[in-house]
Amino acid sequence: MKTTNNTRRKFIKISAGTLFFGSLLGGGAYLAPKLNSNSLLLRPPGAIDEKDFLATCIKCGQCVQVCPYHSLHLLDIGNGNSVGTPYLDARDRGCYLCDLLPCVLACPSGSLNHDITEAHQVEMGMAILKRPDRCLAMLGKNVEIEDIEGILTHSNKNEREAKVLDDLKSYVGKPCTICADLCPYPENEKAIGMVQDKNGKWYPEVRSECVGCGVCEELCPAKGEAAIVIVPRATYTEVYG
Ligand code: SF4
Ligand code: SF4
Ligand code: SF4
Repeated sequence: MKTTNNTRRKFIKISAGTLFFGSLLGGGAYLAPKLNSNSLLLRPPGAIDEKDFLATCIKCGQCVQVCPYHSLHLLDIGNGNSVGTPYLDARDRGCYLCDLLPCVLACPSGSLNHDITEAHQVEMGMAILKRPDRCLAMLGKNVEIEDIEGILTHSNKNEREAKVLDDLKSYVGKPCTICADLCPYPENEKAIGMVQDKNGKWYPEVRSECVGCGVCEELCPAKGEAAIVIVPRATYTEVYG
């Protein structure tokens, strides 16, 4: 299991750029407190309210062990009373919303709610086009192999993980529609789709059924920080009004 001291990458930071583009998209004054936080963690599917999650998680790592995509990790020391609890670093690996959510089934404490049995019920967070200036679609650039070579180093230990990376490679030389196409949500056009702005530029539009799984953030070929990121535990209404 992976642990890391790189705390910076575990937390979402929302910049002025987010707020600017949110206004462009009609989100208006969506300055919910969650968007200004610098300490929200992306938790596994089914995670209960953060305070209750911290009070009930027994830090057994069962969810981490069963995840076939190696999406989950346990927080290491230096993270206060969160140490030992599971989280995702979406830029390293999102959650692929497996059938029957095996991580939830494996949780013995109720910290991952067993009433959450399918992708439609998941509420991990909400995607947001934080850096439109990095989005290849908005820039009108095709995906190049150099853009994705860092992502191609992500975990590749079984057929499911290999398929993720093979799917990503198929975009080399083509316009970027990766986040919209590879979103694992069932009927993913209800979570995200490519649309054109009034100037004819394509961009990903996040829609109401996005569950914040983080796959769009993982696979976004923008260099460094992804153009599209997840605001943990935020809802569509909080972000987009
Ligand atoms: S749903 Fe699947 S990919 Fe997502 S965290 Fe659970 S086991 Fe991992
Ligand atoms: S994955 Fe989406 S957000 Fe990232 S560059 Fe491609 S179209 Fe833009
Ligand atoms: S838009 Fe992104 S975060 Fe939302 S469900 Fe799709 S891949 Fe997951």
